[in-house]
Amino acid sequence: MRIAEALAFSKRLEDISDSPRLDTEIFLCHALEKPSSYLMTWPEKELTSAQIERFTACLQRRQNGEPVAYILGTQAFWTLDLEVTTDTLIPRADTEVLVEVALNLFPENTPLRIADLGTGTGAIALALASERPAWEVWGCDRIDAAVDLAKRNQARLGLPDVNFVQGSWLAPLGGRFDMIVSNPPYIDQHDEHLKQGDVRFEPLSALVAAENGLSDIMHIINTAPDYLLKGGWLLFEHGYQQAAAVRKLFCDSGYEQVNTYQDYAGNDRVSLGCWNRL
Ligand code: GLN
Repeated sequence: MRIAEALAFSKRLEDISDSPRLDTEIFLCHALEKPSSYLMTWPEKELTSAQIERFTACLQRRQNGEPVAYILGTQAFWTLDLEVTTDTLIPRADTEVLVEVALNLFPENTPLRIADLGTGTGAIALALASERPAWEVWGCDRIDAAVDLAKRNQARLGLPDVNFVQGSWLAPLGGRFDMIVSNPPYIDQHDEHLKQGDVRFEPLSALVAAENGLSDIMHIINTAPDYLLKGGWLLFEHGYQQAAAVRKLFCDSGYEQVNTYQDYAGNDRVSLGCWNRL
């Protein structure tokens, strides 16, 4: 099989993927251990039998609906290349907005103490630590396997120390923080979105929350005042139709400077509030 022939297998992914050609190129690069420019430069190159085997195994898994990130075991987020497993959500580009907002809340050189709740792969905590090496960053997750994964990601990226700990939301943390961030589960269990595409392979515990998807956000808003310094910020990623509800929860609990930011598609995606009391 030549490279040009292998690329034609993208037809098989047309029913399952929004990007069949790209997925096929990614699998081929993975099988060949070459960059994508190689595929365009050497279309006549013959694959070895080991390369064909690796390529078709990836293609078959994708045909069965598995997300590309789980097949490759990695996902790009921010400037980082993260290991991912089915124990956690696959980091999304939309979540980079949360990282951007968090980085812009304080002057660059202020040493801060911050926490990422439900850290999963460690994506948000590690992105922040990579940009602000002087920050004391904590990441927690209820799932042991996620904490192990986040620690592996930190080690493989050689990033400054992040304290990854096991426990539910704020429970494993002590002391007060300048900023608490979270991409918690926020989808309603009956949402049609859960029945389609990549999301079907992700852990429901990372996606679904009670009370129209707001129960975990509500819990964190209520408990965070015991963990925030005066003037500390709480930031969430949430569903694109949840901004008004999340802002109301913030305001009703006494947070100030409550605001919402949009993701790269222009949807409301991140809301935040400042705790100005002690
Ligand atoms: N934005 C993700 C999705 O729509 C969900 C992420 C989450 O629940 N935290 O699939």
